[in-house]
Amino acid sequence: MRIDLHCHSTASDGTLTPAELVAAGARAGLDVMAITDHDTTGGWVAAAAARPAGLRLVRGAELSCRWYDADPPIALHLLAYLFDPAEPRLAADLTRMRTDREQRAERIVELLRADGVPISWPEVSGYAAGGSVGRPHIAQALIRAGLVATTNEAFASQWLGARYFVPKSDLDVFEAVRAVRAAGGVPVFAHPRATRRGRVVPDRLIEELAAAGLFGLEADHEDHSPAEREEVRALADRLGLVVTGSSDFHGTHKTVRLGAFRTAPEAYEKIVAAATGVPVLG
Ligand code: AMP
Ligand code: FE
Ligand code: FE
Ligand code: ZN
Repeated sequence: MRIDLHCHSTASDGTLTPAELVAAGARAGLDVMAITDHDTTGGWVAAAAARPAGLRLVRGAELSCRWYDADPPIALHLLAYLFDPAEPRLAADLTRMRTDREQRAERIVELLRADGVPISWPEVSGYAAGGSVGRPHIAQALIRAGLVATTNEAFASQWLGARYFVPKSDLDVFEAVRAVRAAGGVPVFAHPRATRRGRVVPDRLIEELAAAGLFGLEADHEDHSPAEREEVRALADRLGLVVTGSSDFHGTHKTVRLGAFRTAPEAYEKIVAAATGVPVLG
């Protein structure tokens, strides 16, 4: 079984529509794929409607979280699988995070424009096309303006990585774990050792999150070195958490391919068995 539990569509910062995403998943030989857009379930209906026979669809999201006990607080991502999208608290959290994303992206665009960069909020907002707006959409405008050649370049420190970085007001990670569980979902810490993305949290926090209801850790991910993958596996073993692997596919915003990293069937079955929010489709 080929299982990829972390994929983005145009409902956030991926470049394939939800319908194109599930079709691409089937073409890539996946048996199971998860749609996990940033802070939204906006792609669920279209993905479900277009799901090819033979492809099982796990509906999920990737929540923008923060560990507020660190100084300064550390941003992290929590994958949430098979939760009830109508559960009021989690739904309100998602709405709030998307609104904040818009205000923050607009602010970044203002900072760039103040320095004479010829991009605009309507342009960036148009790239997001109603989905969760993110820095990759601003990167797209920078590419269009000829200032950088790739999304990755736009994340360099002189652009969106630092000089024009504005933080989001993310969800407290403990609150997020509790909210996902309360909605019948299963929380998995995305790329917990991705040092190349910035500061990572200490094992102590992951222990506390495990005690609070965290279910798994994503070990196999392109942003983890082989040594980091092994560290994550060892930590998961010690804490009794499941281990996942996934592509974190973003279409042409990244180079990674669907199914490039995968989750073992046993881990997938445990996630499904622990979820009570919505069923796997297919
Ligand atoms: P945001 O959620 O708006 O803070 O933007 C972060 C998103 O940008 C992540 O979810 C990734 O999808 C993407 N991203 C981060 N770093 C890079 C990079 N170096 N190259 C391409 N995409 C990136
Ligand atoms: Fe992303
Ligand atoms: Fe992520
Ligand atoms: Zn992701």
